[in-house]
Parts: sequence; structure tokens; C-alpha cells
Amino acid sequence: RSGWRRVLRVLEELEEGCATPVGRLRQVVDAMAVEMHAGLASEGGSKLKMLLTFIHNLPTGNEKGIYYALDLGGTNFRVLRVKLGGERSSITELDVDRKPIPQHLMTSTTEELFDFIATSLKDFVEKEENVPEPSQGERRELGFTFSFPFKQISSSSGTLIKWTKGFSIEDMVGRDVSQCLQEAMSRKGLDMRVTALINDTVGTLALGHYHDEDTVAAVIIGTGTNACYLERADAIIKCQGLLTTSGSMVVNMEWGNFWSSHLPRTSYDVDLDADSPNPNDQGFEKMISGMYLGDIVRRVILRMSLESDVFGLISSKLHVPFILRTPMIAAMHEDDSPNLEEVGRILQDTLEISEVPLNVRKLVVKVCDVVTCRAARLAAAGIVGILKKIGRDGSGGITNAKSKGGGSMKMKRTVVAVEGGLYTNYTMFREYLNEAMVQILGDDVASHVIIKATEDGSGIGASLLAASHSASS
Ligand code: ADP
Repeated sequence: RSGWRRVLRVLEELEEGCATPVGRLRQVVDAMAVEMHAGLASEGGSKLKMLLTFIHNLPTGNEKGIYYALDLGGTNFRVLRVKLGGERSSITELDVDRKPIPQHLMTSTTEELFDFIATSLKDFVEKEENVPEPSQGERRELGFTFSFPFKQISSSSGTLIKWTKGFSIEDMVGRDVSQCLQEAMSRKGLDMRVTALINDTVGTLALGHYHDEDTVAAVIIGTGTNACYLERADAIIKCQGLLTTSGSMVVNMEWGNFWSSHLPRTSYDVDLDADSPNPNDQGFEKMISGMYLGDIVRRVILRMSLESDVFGLISSKLHVPFILRTPMIAAMHEDDSPNLEEVGRILQDTLEISEVPLNVRKLVVKVCDVVTCRAARLAAAGIVGILKKIGRDGSGGITNAKSKGGGSMKMKRTVVAVEGGLYTNYTMFREYLNEAMVQILGDDVASHVIIKATEDGSGIGASLLAASHSASS
């Protein structure tokens, strides 16, 4: 097979294009903090929307009682019932029901969709056992995680901006999401109140905060990516005179849309973006999240295959967008067999490239490594950007208490809740992210920053917010 040198050149260019030395990561950190500032200064001031959530108080751990959550974010929805015992007790998930949304309802009418959901909720409530009926004047309370873009009006209401992920119900755009559900529930005779309407990252933050009050931000790195954090109300310039009980508010960054000229962009990224249904949109997400990493790797292998015959004849599969999924990248990357059996198997089964010699398999592993390493390090820079914005990056921001002695700044313990399949299931991604955090922050400051994996913020977290926003609390 020939063209080995040309292939190495492609790899070298990829490595150069994806390079994230710590100096560059710090530029990304600064750009993130600057964009956050701009997004808070005015509506449309940045690619970061910095959406207000009107959530001023996060769960403290003192919440008590039985609460419900509804998680609607794609083709499935879930209903949960959880029991909280106060005193940061462990959370008991009493029951959960998961159902697909019938295809035809995704493009029907608001009433039909919400009647279906309300009926499922009612069935769920009616089959419950050993749950005391709410006493006079009390109602069942629900946290609603709605993972579509909506503009929040209060912590329990918001209007739909647009549908995504295959949903298209035109008469719903501009309408209040909670009210639609509330009306459907009364049509079905279900006495339940939506006490919190949230985005899934906010649920993750709530869950993190329930267990650990030093949790200040939450990041999701799964199919897509997003982050939210707790901001001082007076830093939210675009909403002057904001009254909050706590002096702060959770801000949903929509960070997938972050962009900066400091991001290391390659021709593969440019092409992926141009071929996507949303060009010029979600630029950060397209470099980081699980939806895209596999396809970046596919594009590199295709290029190598076009430039040489180290992969034999060009497989037509290499032209199929998204055929190589991110879990496969992880499996190849983490293949520790001496002959890279798993790499050979995936190349064969998915891309129909057979009898790939060991040195070419190693090359494929290297490509996975480069693409994943860049993603994880950029995610780390994004997280440090948030910390910088709130003065928790150790560079002397306002929340750092001055220590009694020599005037040096003391760094507060700071927790960031992280969830999502890419972070939890892909060990190398997690390790690269953690390593970059330490490189950017330095050992000292990094020792005060804890990245904590959470699970099911969009379900459990919503029920916690229903509790902390309960009429009776
Ligand atoms: P969501 O689709 O709501 O983001 P998850 O947080 O579970 O759901 O993330 C799923 C995504 O995580 C998948 O689309 C995939 O990209 C990524 N993922 C799942 N498992 C793995 C894995 N073993 N290795 C790498 N990435 C994975």
C-alpha cells in the first residue's frame, strides 16, 4: 500500500490544526468570560444567549415530601415521582414511567400533544400506591424539564421560541409551555401544579446543589452540550432592577453556540458545519459533543483514504455522514488489545474496510485521540471561563475572601456538576478534561475545584426544583 507519507502529513496537519496548548486554552477561557459578559449586557449582545431562568434559589437539601417531574426532551418522555426526607437525605425514586411520543403527535396540535402527556401523567398518578392523597388546599407539584428553546417569564413559565429534534407544532410557538400543560391537565381532571419549568442543565445544577451547596455551575456533555451557572443579579445588566430574594439567578448559557477566533478550527470542522442543517450555529457544540466527534473522525479517515491507498479502495461507507458514531470512537480509542482487534472490527463492520494492517489501525486510534483530546480540553476551557466570570478561577475575583494573614487570596471550594453520556462513558474524554483543568488553573487553584458527575438532573433535578419552588415551602 502506498501513500503512507501523505497520510502522515494529513495526520500532522490534523494535530497542528487541533492543537490546544495551555496558552491557547487560556485565550478560550478569556473569550468565554468576555462573551458571557456581552450576553448579559444586552439582548443579542453575544452568540451566547445567556437566558434568564428566574430561578433564584437552588435546592438546599432541606426539601421534604413527594414531588413529580416530567422530562420532555426528544422522542421519549418520562414521568417520575420522588420522595425527599430533608437533611440532604438520599433521594428515593418511588416510580418512573418512560414512554415514546407517538410520531404523529410530534407534528399535530398543541392540544393533542399535551392531552397525551396529561393522560399519561394521570395514569401514572392513579396507579400509585401508598401515597397519601394531598390534603385540603394542597396539590401535587411538578417540575417540568422542557428541552427545547423557550423564553422564560418566571421560574414556572416560559414561551416556546421554536421546535427542534423533529417536533413541529406551529400553533405552539410563542405560547406558554406550562400553561399548555396546565390546561391539558385540567381537561383530563388531574389536579397538579407546574411549580418549575426548566431546561435540563438547570436540573443538573439543582441536583448538584442539593447534594453539595458549593455547586455553582453545571455542564452537560452528551449528544449536545450546554451549561448554566449561578450569577449575581446585579451582573445581569440586560435586566436592570432585577429583584431576587437571594441576590442571584441561574443563567442558562446555551454555550453550544459559543464562538471565538481562538478556537482551533480545521477544514473538517468547516465542512461539517457547511453540510449541517444549521450552518454557523452551535460552533462550540460541533467541536465538543457526542453528536459530532465521530463524524469529524470519519472525515479525517475519508481524506486519508482519498490521499492514499493505506485503507485499500475507498469505501463508499466513508461518504455516509454520521455513520461512525462517537461510542465507536471511544471503543477504538480505548482498545487495549495488542493487535487492536476492536479497531479492526469497527473498521470492518461499520466502514467495510477490511484487513487493515496494525500500523494503519494505530493511525486510526491516533485520529480518535486528537479529535477527542481537543474536545475535552475545549470543554475544560469553557468551564474555567465560567469560573473566571464568577471569580472562582483563582485570579483574584470578587468572591475570593481575603485571608487574615499576608493578604493572599483564599480560593473557595467550588463544585461543577457534569453529566451526559460523553463525559460519563468515555474515560479518555474525562481524563483529558480533568487534566486540562489542572493545566489551566494550576495545581493550587485546581485543588479547590471539583468536577462532580451527576446522574439524571433532567428528571430528579426537576423534582427537586418543584420542591424548592413549592407553594408550601
Ligand atoms: P442525550 O442524548 O440526552 O445527550 P446522554 O447524556 O446519555 O443523552 O448522551 C448520549 C450521547 O453520549 C450519545 O449521543 C453519544 O454521543 C455519547 N456517548 C454515549 N455512550 C458513549 C460512549 N461509550 N463513548 C463515547 N460517547 C458516548
